[in-house]
Amino acid sequence: MAKCPLCGKPLDWGELIEQMLNIDNAEEITRDREKFMEAIEGFAFKCPHCGEEFYGKYLPREEAEKVFELLNEFKGSIDWENRKVRLRLNSLLALDKMLENWDKKVKREVP
Ligand SMILES: [Zn+2]
Repeated sequence: MAKCPLCGKPLDWGELIEQMLNIDNAEEITRDREKFMEAIEGFAFKCPHCGEEFYGKYLPREEAEKVFELLNEFKGSIDWENRKVRLRLNSLLALDKMLENWDKKVKREVP
């Protein structure tokens, strides 16, 4: 799971994405994978624990890509009026990882 590169505390993806929702073309960015990844990498996020800023390029890219998929997979995942993420992204990421591991396990057990 994503961690603050400075204090090491776990970060909530929903909170991180909400920090990005105030940029001008946020709506457009969240719909375009390349723009989204680029925006994340260059964005200065603020850690809610230590208050320090760090660039999104220090976040796990694999998770950022999954977040993009989740945001686009679910209709109404973002409440644009209130600039809030409606999905519990961390729970969904954890579930996704669990299913992935389960899938691997099942495949290993099949002779
Ligand atoms: Zn921190």
